[in-house]
Amino acid sequence: MCCKACAATLPGKAPAAAPLTPLSGSNPIRVVRVKPTGICAGVRRALRVAEQIDHPETVTIHGQLVHNEVVQARLQSRGFRTCDEGDGTRLPETPNVLITAHGLSDHRRRSLQAAGKRLIDTTCPLVRRLHQTALALQADGYHVLLIGRPDHVEVLGIVEDLSSYDVLSDVADVGTYPHRRLGIVCQTTVPPRLAEEIHLAIRMRNLRAEVRFENTICRATRDRQRAVERILPQVDAVVVVGGRNSNNTCELVELCRRKGVPTHHVQSADDIDPAWFRDCRTVGLSAGTSTEEQTIREVYEALCHLSRQEASFGRL
Ligand code: SF4
Repeated sequence: MCCKACAATLPGKAPAAAPLTPLSGSNPIRVVRVKPTGICAGVRRALRVAEQIDHPETVTIHGQLVHNEVVQARLQSRGFRTCDEGDGTRLPETPNVLITAHGLSDHRRRSLQAAGKRLIDTTCPLVRRLHQTALALQADGYHVLLIGRPDHVEVLGIVEDLSSYDVLSDVADVGTYPHRRLGIVCQTTVPPRLAEEIHLAIRMRNLRAEVRFENTICRATRDRQRAVERILPQVDAVVVVGGRNSNNTCELVELCRRKGVPTHHVQSADDIDPAWFRDCRTVGLSAGTSTEEQTIREVYEALCHLSRQEASFGRL
């Protein structure tokens, strides 16, 4: 570790947003790592399963194991094949199919199994809970309203098993529904604020309906969003590390920008432009749930380097 400033941002040393000792040198930048941040238990588990597979060439990953290009490239270099998660018509050629943490519909699972494929299931338990909640609501006679992104693989995996549903990604999507019972569930990575706004709009526009709200947003998402929100008053800019198609990373970026803080979405340290931080004294560092620790460290060290610190992350 090079200085007290670095120590103040290390796990187990001090709260992430603790005051840091001013640094020497011109244009010193404090880098405040948000905690918690980065990879979640569901993604870590899926990666561990993939890493333990001895013959990756016999496995097709159904979509992207994580929405992170660095990890995707590593998996492909090991020989894993991938298939487009949106294409339900073509069967993978390999005997084994790996279902990602985002899950897969029961309908699609049955077709794969009927074709003799062995399924390696890494669905996150929280995604499975969402799936089961939506099915239970439908079985109880509710029209399911799923708050989330209609094109996201997790959402597709849920709605493929439903016959009575609508997907709402914004308050403007909320309508007046003819159903007597409306059951609301949320994609696991939806911002709690947005879910609450949509939930209220549904109630306001459907005063005669019985509305049931099941909060299926995962804790990892909630905690990361709250943590980044907490440091915003103390920073001049935020860097969020994660894949461009990672929903929860994009939500973190959007949250910071909505609060008026200049926010830069990077996939790796190579994306950093020093000009972004010309007038900054303090920069917050956050990452999505599919961003590995190694990538976060590299970005942290690159930011510290900009402030002329000799960055060292120490033990994490
Ligand atoms: S973000 Fe949440 S729901 Fe998605 S894999 Fe991670 S823990 Fe599971």
